[in-house]
Amino acid sequence: MRTVDEHRAALLALVSALPPVTVALSEALGRVLAADVVAAVDLPGFDNSAMDGYAVRSADVAGASGDSPVVLDVDGDIAAGDTRRHVLRPGAAMRIMTGAPLPEGADAIVPVESSDGGVSRVAVTLAAEVGRHLRLQGEDVRVGDVVLHAGARLGPGQVALAAASNVAELTVAARPRVSILSTGDELVLPGQPLEHGQIVDSNSVMLAALVTAAGAEVVGSGHLDDDAAAMRSLLQDPPGEPDLILTTGGVSMGAYDTVKEVLSATGTVDFVKVAMRPGMPQGAGVVGERRTPIVTLPGNPVSSFVSFHVFVLPVLRALAGLEWEQATAGSVAAQGWSSIEGRAEFTRVVLDTDGVRPSGGQGSHMLGALADATHLAVVDAATTQIQPGDAVRLLPLVGQD
Ligand code: AMP
Ligand code: MG
Repeated sequence: MRTVDEHRAALLALVSALPPVTVALSEALGRVLAADVVAAVDLPGFDNSAMDGYAVRSADVAGASGDSPVVLDVDGDIAAGDTRRHVLRPGAAMRIMTGAPLPEGADAIVPVESSDGGVSRVAVTLAAEVGRHLRLQGEDVRVGDVVLHAGARLGPGQVALAAASNVAELTVAARPRVSILSTGDELVLPGQPLEHGQIVDSNSVMLAALVTAAGAEVVGSGHLDDDAAAMRSLLQDPPGEPDLILTTGGVSMGAYDTVKEVLSATGTVDFVKVAMRPGMPQGAGVVGERRTPIVTLPGNPVSSFVSFHVFVLPVLRALAGLEWEQATAGSVAAQGWSSIEGRAEFTRVVLDTDGVRPSGGQGSHMLGALADATHLAVVDAATTQIQPGDAVRLLPLVGQD
């Protein structure tokens, strides 16, 4: 039997990084930067007003107060977007709006609230000191600064910073294109009537959701019966030119395990047992003329889900050219549970204020407990019993962060 780490290493050896791509800012949300972003401008780009009010020389308003206002001539208006270069005459003020460029010679803003709001002359009641209500050029970001680093995930704030830095396109990690194939005669699409012995194909939607949440792209999702000939011809030339194929089902020890039967014969896919629970039967290799990497996941929904977190996630990261490190969090057991010897166990748990407890039945077919879970707790192969209060290592669930 392989260890989890050994199997993961075998999978990673099947893939190489896709080249990064350039996207417009409008397409960048959720992507991961593949290159640093360097500011093309200072932020702010020029000294400007933080308030609607009057640009003044602080010396001219020294001593102004509610009791003894200082009266100044108003030499004109400067609105946001005014591209002229104004000069402030000593002894005068200019009406200025938020974001408008400061006239040369001015060194403070008197907010309109600290004045009588005059248009040709203004009575100022605030002794605004040097720098009052000014936004200074470059105080936030300097031209040439690295404002976002490679590896950063782009959220709304990061996209806004790139835009303000006058960078219109970003170099981001490729989104691996993934094809999903569920197999099994018993499977029916969600919403269809079920005959006795049939079940709904939940793995297809689950895997599509996981792939999407992991930042990859689903380029095809379909179902095949346990029909060796159909499977052979589909996998010989996988539609949609995926970077990775995921299959579910048909890899156990039984008859009608068609994925295993068909792909074993190719000689390019290995089927192995991995010392883990759930998820022991695993397979991986390459198929078709394009030698597309394929990972054959077990059919049991929970096994498939756990296998995705443990094996497929790092493969997707590698395809995207990104570092992968098993994300873990520490907690304690709020309740004890037993674990099988000799296999790493991934227990579905609920994290609460007092620690974690199993989310319910741990059978590999039990989606109820899976849907309740907030994390997977990793119990190493040597541990057979978790005691209340024991330290527990948790894997976050993809799409729930
Ligand atoms: P198999 O690996 O094909 O023997 O399947 C193992 C178990 O997982 C069986 O109980 C299947 O019915 C179930 N199963 C297989 N594929 C799916 C699927 N796409 N959705 C839900 N359950 C599945
Ligand atoms: Mg099957």
